[in-house]
Order: sequence, then structure tokens, then C-alpha cells
Amino acid sequence: MKYFTLQELSDSDTAVRMNIDNEPDKDAVENMRRLIDVVLDPARELLGVPIRVNSGYRSKMLNEEVGGVKQSYHLSGRAADITAGSVSANRRLFAILRKLPHKELIWEKGGIWIHVAL
Ligand SMILES: [Zn+2]
Repeated sequence: MKYFTLQELSDSDTAVRMNIDNEPDKDAVENMRRLIDVVLDPARELLGVPIRVNSGYRSKMLNEEVGGVKQSYHLSGRAADITAGSVSANRRLFAILRKLPHKELIWEKGGIWIHVAL
């Protein structure tokens, strides 16, 4: 792990505000680590500019609170919603992510953010 931390993948303003436990278990931590090493860090390296994580790991309660789908990869720490700060930067980021391993890659809301899962 070079650019991303487990902390920023589980931090959630909503969880804090709603007093929801969003502490990942051992399996989720392992998945988050893999997501960083295999996808997020290499993408950041290739992109050359910072990437912000809007949402990473979500406990069941947090996922329900934010209206996530029931079988979401966010629940197991395998997904992240990320942005490089603008639609044009996200376009470059998306092109990079297409060439990296992933199970899901979704261009969200006209490119405001990207959902990627491993
Ligand atoms: Zn997502």
C-alpha cells in the first residue's frame, strides 16, 4: 500500500453522523488491502494525480443508510467509489482502470465518480 490507507477506505461521514459502526472485519480488511494493491495504487501511479475515495467499505447498516444495493461489493470491502476531481480526469482514470483487474467498473452519474470492484 503506497497511496491509499485502510482508514480512508472505511471512513464515512454518514456513519459518523448516524453513529453507525463501520469497522471492517478481518476478511473485509484483506479485501480492502487487495483492492488497494491491485487496483487503486496502480491506477493512482499511472494517473499521476490524487484520487479521492467517496465510499469504500460499508457495513450492512451503512449500506442500507446510503441506499446501496443488497449484494454490493462495498459490503465485503471489495469496491470503492472514486474520483480524480473532474469528469475529464475521471475519463483518463476510467481508461486506466479498464486495463487493470476488476469485476465491476461503472461510470457513475455522467462521470462524477467511478465505481470499481475487484
Ligand atoms: Zn460503488
